Amino acid sequence: MVEPPPPIRSLRTQIALVFGSFSAALAMVVCFLAGEVLKIRLQHQAGTALGIVAHNAGNLLQQDLQQQIRRAQVLASSPELWEEGLDSPSVAQLLQRMQHLNPYNVWIGVTDIDGQVQNATGGLLLGTNVSERPWFQEALRGPYISDVHPAKLLQNLLPRSATGEPLRVVDFVAPIYQSDSGKRLGVIGIHANWDWVQVAMDRLLQGPAKYSQQSIFIFDRAGTLIYAPGGAIAPYLALGQAYPKALVGTAPQPQLVTWKDRPQPYLTAALRLQPPSDENDLGWWIVARQPIETAYADANRVLWMALGLGLVAGLFAAWIAWRLARHVSNDLKQLAQAATHVQTTHDIDSLPLLHSNREVFQLSQALSEMTHKLLRANEEMQEQVRIRTLELQQANAELECQASTDPLTGLLNRRGFETQAQVALALAIRSGRPLSVLTLDIDFFKHINDQFGHDAGDLVLTSLAHLLRKRLRQADIVARFGGEEFVVLLPDTDGEDALRTGHSLLQTIEETPIPQVGHITASAGVSSLQAGDADGLTDMLRRADDALYQAKRTGRNRACRQD
Ligand code: GH3
Ligand code: MG
Ligand code: MG
Repeated sequence: MVEPPPPIRSLRTQIALVFGSFSAALAMVVCFLAGEVLKIRLQHQAGTALGIVAHNAGNLLQQDLQQQIRRAQVLASSPELWEEGLDSPSVAQLLQRMQHLNPYNVWIGVTDIDGQVQNATGGLLLGTNVSERPWFQEALRGPYISDVHPAKLLQNLLPRSATGEPLRVVDFVAPIYQSDSGKRLGVIGIHANWDWVQVAMDRLLQGPAKYSQQSIFIFDRAGTLIYAPGGAIAPYLALGQAYPKALVGTAPQPQLVTWKDRPQPYLTAALRLQPPSDENDLGWWIVARQPIETAYADANRVLWMALGLGLVAGLFAAWIAWRLARHVSNDLKQLAQAATHVQTTHDIDSLPLLHSNREVFQLSQALSEMTHKLLRANEEMQEQVRIRTLELQQANAELECQASTDPLTGLLNRRGFETQAQVALALAIRSGRPLSVLTLDIDFFKHINDQFGHDAGDLVLTSLAHLLRKRLRQADIVARFGGEEFVVLLPDTDGEDALRTGHSLLQTIEETPIPQVGHITASAGVSSLQAGDADGLTDMLRRADDALYQAKRTGRNRACRQD
């Protein structure tokens, strides 16, 4: 199984990251939404403010137009002024004074009923027949304000507009009535230089309005531009700028409109000009506009502030989460350190019981209990392993013993004999001391078995084994090779002594009665280690066997020697 890599971040960092980023995101979202709401409100307010600018401009224009037409009407309806005749010097003086009142009135004149100019400021167009001019024809019907139009007859008589563009005028005209009969005498006409609107608008847009780049445009009924900031309409006309289509309607709402002079939209508010007189609805549109960047500057600032506030709140929330996370992680860190300590020292008492919260308490309690159990289980297991090892060692020893012991007599068997004899042989060779072997075989054992039974035969065998063990030295190695044949290895014993031992043993056997069976005899063969023996043990045993055979052959109950 592949182990997962250990986590790099601490629990505290993880908690702080999760909760910190969550609260930071929440704070930012809340602030952003609040900022958005504020932004929408401020944008709405910007639209309303622009609407007020358009409204004020409309009012100002309407008042100016109204004042001018009233002035013409009052003059036309004052018969005493005309008693001396339309061409009288008093009328000339009156017109002159009127022009002084308003220098933008570039021409004030009166005509007779046929359109012949009778009197005029500066004597301009005196005697000219204007009956073909639209303003004269309108004036015959009643007071009238014309649209803005280029000055036709006066074009070359008067200086050009302050903007350098051709002179454009608005006509204020009214019919002149005779006192008693109410008969029309002629017409009074005032031609006002359109530049006056620029002055009025500049006055209106001074101060904050100018700073916020608000500007006023005026379109006529047909949607043609008749006024632009600074009075300079030519650049806009060149771009084909007409009344914006988005604003078409009776009461258009302030909105973002793309104008032809730049790609970014303008916040734009439009207002239809109130009729300056009962008879005369010009149908003009007053349009106020403001670049989006200045119109929505406050709204954008508020949004950025809200985002900044959200960021600060988010960072603060993350900091709080970081502080709180320490509280939780400290306990777990303490537990982890204690657990590591227990792992190396097995000192269970170093595990603390923590109470900072229920889960940590349960964890520390469970950890402590689990460690106790594990250590106890470990000790039990070690004890079991120790016992098992001892048992195995014992069993091995027993097996070893069984493998080298003759079960009937308890003497060594051939395997056990050879093992021990090899050691004795090596010792003898190294020390140069003598070593002898004696083989012993019971005489006519078959008869004993036949006569007294197999159990009695076994008894003979065990008794003989007991006798051999008793009579021989501790260092002598006694073994039963099978059947009724015994072998004895005699360390530190030469051939002579071995033969003596053989005789002595046979004598003891003969003299010692065995229960049930009585006296028995045995024969023995003796041999000792020779310097020329290639395989000491085998050679000795072979010679001892030969000697035994000789003993049997020569009458039994005797010991023979062969070296
Ligand atoms: P000899 O004097 O020539 O040695 O004659 P013997 O009868 O002793 O020898 P033989 O080899 O003819 O017979 C040996 C007998 O020993 C045969 C067998 O039944 C008996 N025998 C071998 N092992 C055991 C044993 O473990 N218990 C008993 N009771 N008898 C055994
Ligand atoms: Mg035998
Ligand atoms: Mg025998």
